[in-house]
Amino acid sequence: ASRPTILPVQFYEDRLSVSASARKPSPLWELFSAESNPGLLSLLAGKPHPDTFPFEYIHLGVRSPGAAGEQVTKELTIKDEELHVAMQYGMTAGEKELRDWLTTLTERVHSRGPNEGWRVSIGAGSQDLLYKAFNALLNPGDTVIVEGPTYPGATPIMTALGCKYVSIDVDNDGIIASDLEKVLDNWDSSKPKPKAVYTIPFGSNPAGVTASYERRVEMLKLAKKHDFIILEDDPYYFLYYGDRPRPPSYFSLEGKILGEVGRVLRFDSFSKVMAAGLRLGWLTGPDRLLGAIEAHSMTNIVQASSISQILAIKVLREWGIDGFLKHVQNAANFYKRRRDVMAAALDRHMKGIAEWTQPDAAMFFWIKLKLPMSVDLQSVEIDGDSTTFIRSKAIDRGVLVLPGATSFVDGRQTARVRVSFSLLSDEVTEEAIKRLATVLTEEIH
Ligand code: PMP
Ligand code: PLP
Repeated sequence: ASRPTILPVQFYEDRLSVSASARKPSPLWELFSAESNPGLLSLLAGKPHPDTFPFEYIHLGVRSPGAAGEQVTKELTIKDEELHVAMQYGMTAGEKELRDWLTTLTERVHSRGPNEGWRVSIGAGSQDLLYKAFNALLNPGDTVIVEGPTYPGATPIMTALGCKYVSIDVDNDGIIASDLEKVLDNWDSSKPKPKAVYTIPFGSNPAGVTASYERRVEMLKLAKKHDFIILEDDPYYFLYYGDRPRPPSYFSLEGKILGEVGRVLRFDSFSKVMAAGLRLGWLTGPDRLLGAIEAHSMTNIVQASSISQILAIKVLREWGIDGFLKHVQNAANFYKRRRDVMAAALDRHMKGIAEWTQPDAAMFFWIKLKLPMSVDLQSVEIDGDSTTFIRSKAIDRGVLVLPGATSFVDGRQTARVRVSFSLLSDEVTEEAIKRLATVLTEEIH
């Protein structure tokens, strides 16, 4: 296959927000990378001396990858030079060993070659990177395309930036690309077109939907036709447990489908498979966008925690890529079993009073409650409203789920709720669904 074209730097210069264009790399942290020049004596940094730190070593126990029962715990120690790195300031893009490891993982998992116009950069969780990416691309008044429903942790960022939304509904195959095409084909030419689509392609939070291969291809073609960037927020990528073959990521497909690369900015997270409290995520994409986001971090958190990065490195070095992939497969199997437990509880208690489809990834059911319908001003019947029901009834009866309205940017009323099956034991899951069914039945009758 011929090599894909790499979009030129000007492509991003034309799309950066006013604040991102104005933001220069911090003079302090920018020079920092020169410290790795051999033989250089650096009096640059205000790095505190580690002899003044109280930490002597970190002793940790790490499980081997593998199914429950066959795992063994290995004791590892962080000391000497490694401890110094863990306790010191580091580069904004992240520790080199961790970036190299993630680069190899990306080459393997997303089959993208080196020198294809991308690199990785580490942040303090993907939420941190989403925040900075929206800030790097969006000006007040810009329009951004989001899914209906979308992740309610991301929209407050765009709302605060003064963005307008186009919300495109999701069905069982993901975002409905043909609906988006209609909107963009009929776009009022006096208004600037949307710069970006924000999408959650695997086990979307909250709808639990995984975008099909065909939808991904349609979306990529639309991205080129209507000239937008795809923000691929994929924290559940490794938690796919569907029966059909796993669809490739947007990042992996763009070159193959479009013959050009650089439209996809990919967000990954260690939260769901290593530990959410590490606060580690990584970005994969074009250097200019990553540079804009790093310039923001230089004046903000400076870098993701060195301690967290060293903890991750210790584990990943121990496991290797194969071990990591085995570990995440086990995590996916874990959630598949939990999904089946919740599906059985729903079958037992919610038949006839709610509708749902089974997720193929991640940790959510997106359930439509059969609440009494409401009538709006035009006297049209609309779905019942889960927000009032949850807040005024369900909580009092000892069960809490996320009302669906939190996940729509267009203020619509919805009977949907998001139910998470990640954490509760089998027995407690059963009891929670039973409570929800009881209070719902009372509401209907
Ligand atoms: N303010 C001043 C005046 C500093 O010198 C520094 C560290 N160079 C900071 C803030 C940032 O400190 P921290 O490492 O806690 O982010
Ligand atoms: N994006 C989506 C769709 C999520 O569901 C989450 C976490 O729930 C995040 C981003 C944030 O992840 P992190 O813990 O890496 O900041």
